Amino acid sequence: MIILLVALAVSVYRVIFLIRCLRLGKTDYRGGFGWVKGIDRRVISLVGYVLGQVKVYRGDLYAGISHSLIFWSFVLLLPEVFESVMMGVFPDFSLLRFMNSSLFYVYKFLQDFAGVMAIVGVAMAFYRRYVMRPLKIENTKEAFSILLLILLVILTMFGFSAASLSIHSDALMMPVSRLLAEALSGLSLNTRQTLYQLFMLIHNFVLLFFLSYLVFTRKHLHLLTAPLNVFLRSLKPVGEINYLDLDSEETFGAGKIEDLSWKHLLDLLCCTECGRCQELCPAHLTNKPLHPKKLILDLRENLILSGKAGKSKGPPLIGDDLPSIPAEAVWSCTTCAACVTRCPVFIEHFPKIIEIRRFLVLTEGKVPRDVIRVLRNLELFGNPWGAMEKYFNYPTEKKEKSDLLIFLGCSSLYNPRVARVSLSLCELLREAGIEFEIYEGGCCGDPARRLGNEYLYQLFVRKNVEKFNGCRAKKIVTICPHCYNTIKHEYPQLGGVYEVIHHTDLIHQLLESGKLKTAKPLNWSVTYHDPCYLGRYNNMFDAPREILKSIKGVRLLEMERNRSNSLCCGGGGGRAWLEEQGQRICVERVREAAVLPIDKIVVACPLCLIMLGEGLKEIEKEETEVLDLCEIVKRSL
Ligand code: SF4
Ligand code: SF4
Repeated sequence: MIILLVALAVSVYRVIFLIRCLRLGKTDYRGGFGWVKGIDRRVISLVGYVLGQVKVYRGDLYAGISHSLIFWSFVLLLPEVFESVMMGVFPDFSLLRFMNSSLFYVYKFLQDFAGVMAIVGVAMAFYRRYVMRPLKIENTKEAFSILLLILLVILTMFGFSAASLSIHSDALMMPVSRLLAEALSGLSLNTRQTLYQLFMLIHNFVLLFFLSYLVFTRKHLHLLTAPLNVFLRSLKPVGEINYLDLDSEETFGAGKIEDLSWKHLLDLLCCTECGRCQELCPAHLTNKPLHPKKLILDLRENLILSGKAGKSKGPPLIGDDLPSIPAEAVWSCTTCAACVTRCPVFIEHFPKIIEIRRFLVLTEGKVPRDVIRVLRNLELFGNPWGAMEKYFNYPTEKKEKSDLLIFLGCSSLYNPRVARVSLSLCELLREAGIEFEIYEGGCCGDPARRLGNEYLYQLFVRKNVEKFNGCRAKKIVTICPHCYNTIKHEYPQLGGVYEVIHHTDLIHQLLESGKLKTAKPLNWSVTYHDPCYLGRYNNMFDAPREILKSIKGVRLLEMERNRSNSLCCGGGGGRAWLEEQGQRICVERVREAAVLPIDKIVVACPLCLIMLGEGLKEIEKEETEVLDLCEIVKRSL
């Protein structure tokens, strides 16, 4: 009883502290009853991602099996935990009070089964940590002690049930416990009774120590917080950046931990330290100062320190001393979403980075020179290059009946290579007999927003929304996944709700309907590079591949990292226009393509086109051409 009360008091004390940490954060739309919206999807997430452990298997089957075995045994053993703790207080307590005898019989079998599962899971985890030693995980004392504690809980549970079976002549089907009970049968009744008391005491002690230690741990706190985080996960499109009300806030973005929302703070208490987020992070893979797992762990330390110090007294978010984040890390992110989509507990890494960028740009004005250059170009020239000469030139007469509006973003207008892609699209549409209007919109606002200048972003949006609203055509076509994503998912925040279609989908539809026919065989081996904003952001993986497969003579070879595991080209998040220190991301990507016997790299994004082209130049493989999907289709007509 005393042990139970002490464990409860200690745990409650810590939980109150953790809640106080979360209360430092700003409001979030999931607060109050906000979480009720989408409750069906939330429950499905809970079942699939927590009970089903679906994401845990992705990319690391061994770790997934080990984790699932431990997790499922933990769930199965919850009634046993309850029974054993209650027996410590009321010796006659039994689960039979809550179950009929058949269910009790089944449960006791499952209890033994779960114990074996846990031992296998823990053994696999030890083997992985201390023999396999994957680079993405650190062997901390905490991880070791938790695994040891789980093992002790299970071993003492078996000892307890074996001693019980050796005293009472229950006909329970508990194969492991029964085997152990037989080993005890040679002992006197008195000794077995003493062992029974001893095992119950040790089992309960270890159990209660384990449960109260959990709330003090960093990594293993996720056992309690992760299900909550999965339930409260964002149901918005991947990477949708929050609207910032520029009129009502005094400071913009996040400079202190309390400038993040409580949901962002809850994220920090959920990290399992599994390292999945870093496996495909282009910044981390090319040795930039950004390391998504470390970002979350440092922010977590910042939160704990801020919780102890009190509001506004914690360390700043940006700085050179831990647990602050170095500014270079914040500017290294390409917003590729590999971290977010990989994280098994739905932690949102780069939306936090965008909040910090907003602070640096809008509140502090502490911005690297090349970021200032890009933002100034956007402001003065409407494009990140600061270009004045337009390269797109397509003769169109005003079409009265056209339903399609081609939105030409800054790269289509001001980059000669991308302008050729837009021309190809126009020619394909003419070939298919489709009427369309063209809007030379310039920037959609994406680079300004991702670089933290929400003010500039909103100016671009308002200008474009006004134009779109005045157009007869109601379907907007873009060749750029960044424009596509922003107009489709983020313009509604400022009242612009439109049907948006990426040219990949449009071409796919035209080929399917027979309005476009590919006839000329090309005899090329190609690989397709999935643009992050099309693939991971908008789940468009199949249409580009189907287009390529429909062209005679084209052999599609996949790079090792493809579809949702694709590696970013390095151009998102405004990075296409910033200087890149050290190893270039685009080089890392084209090197992967270059191991394949290919003639062309096919893309569906202007930034990928530019970046991969630069990468090929750097590795002196310029004989391999980078083509946009609509160019390859045009050549096959
Ligand atoms: S969004 Fe991409 S670049 Fe940014 S932290 Fe995540 S994985 Fe790394
Ligand atoms: S942030 Fe997510 S993916 Fe990264 S280490 Fe933590 S739990 Fe794993």
